[in-house]
Amino acid sequence: MSEGGPAVRRLADWDREHLRSLADEFGSPLYVTDLQRVRENCHRLREAFPDAHISYAVKAHAGRAVLETVRDAGIDAECASAGEVERALEAGFPGDRVRYTAVNPPAADLDHVVSRWEENPEMTITVGAADTIDRLRERGFDGRLCLRANPGIGAGHHEKVRTGAHAKFGIPIDRVPDLAEDVRDDVALVGVHAHAGSGISGDDLSAHRELVRRMGDLARSIDGLEFVDVGGGFGVPYREDEPPLSLDAVADATREALGDTDARLAIEPGRYVVADAGVLLSRVNTVKDVPETTVVGIDAGMTTLLRPAMYDAYHAISNLSRPDAEAVSTIIAGPVCETSDVFADGRLLARPERGDLLALGNAGAYGYEMASTYNSRPRPAEVVLDGDESRLARRRETLDDITTLERTASEHIPN
Ligand SMILES: *Cc1c(COP(=O)(O)O)cnc(C)c1O
Repeated sequence: MSEGGPAVRRLADWDREHLRSLADEFGSPLYVTDLQRVRENCHRLREAFPDAHISYAVKAHAGRAVLETVRDAGIDAECASAGEVERALEAGFPGDRVRYTAVNPPAADLDHVVSRWEENPEMTITVGAADTIDRLRERGFDGRLCLRANPGIGAGHHEKVRTGAHAKFGIPIDRVPDLAEDVRDDVALVGVHAHAGSGISGDDLSAHRELVRRMGDLARSIDGLEFVDVGGGFGVPYREDEPPLSLDAVADATREALGDTDARLAIEPGRYVVADAGVLLSRVNTVKDVPETTVVGIDAGMTTLLRPAMYDAYHAISNLSRPDAEAVSTIIAGPVCETSDVFADGRLLARPERGDLLALGNAGAYGYEMASTYNSRPRPAEVVLDGDESRLARRRETLDDITTLERTASEHIPN
């Protein structure tokens, strides 16, 4: 097989026996992340966009092992917070391979990032509001700055991820050229940026094309830019029957829509790098037959994998313990006392029994990152695979981890 591997890895492609042995060893719920697949995804992106600058949107999966793998694959780090900047630097990305995109940044984030920039002056900071530049200048920043434009176009699988047109993100695109002139004397203006949201798919390329076209026009109207960044949002097929994204088609459409410019194309996918490199394993707690369906209660919930509750997201689910059992229509639900804590309704699943192990596919992106401790539920463990090796990458959280920050009603916490 080529270094880039297949265009997509489906849930059925994972080694069922191996996943079962991991759950036996490490417990459940358990995230499993295959670093080799992360490498393959990085490789395919580099093949499809050989002359582009590629960054990985760290927020999709900020685990140390993933960051190191992406770093070694030659892809840079796109960070959405001071914490992500810190983790990228700690994972060994040199400053010139770290970009920070400030969205309504808290003062503490700017303090932290500017102090890290002083040690790493090649770091790039992207701002989505003119007053963020003032706030950076007040802290002494005069380094590499990129302006995030709001291109007025959204794309994505759910309205909550269509950021391109939302006023929260970026500077209205027609105001960017004037702002670029205004800031030139104070900082090193290196790029313009836009991110339309998540979910560029085969059918959605027209929105992507339009965004890139507007960004090409913008880049041509500003002298001396080093790069024009058209964001991430490369879709992955969550449904078993969805075709994989053609990276070549996206790359062709992007180049054509961008047109001639001296500024180098930059992209920053997150989901595409890690989604199909991860699965979530979860055990069946209860099986309840009700008149119209079978309710399957599992030990993962919206606190483990939030996407279905937050975005109505679809994840493939299979019964690893009983793959050949007759399929029945099920509701697959978590243990959290919320109606939205449901992974699937009306899903055909090999008839499960208590103790069976289920796998949820494409859980590598925005999975662990969005996990919470709501309902006092400790976050899951994560195992990484690399070739024949498997090792614990994040231990399971304990109740002590959750309560260690608090004191009793009468105890005093020194500040
Ligand atoms: C989230 C984000 C990305 C990555 O989006 P994906 O859909 O995961 O590819 C890229 N750029 C910015 C600015 C983001 O906020």
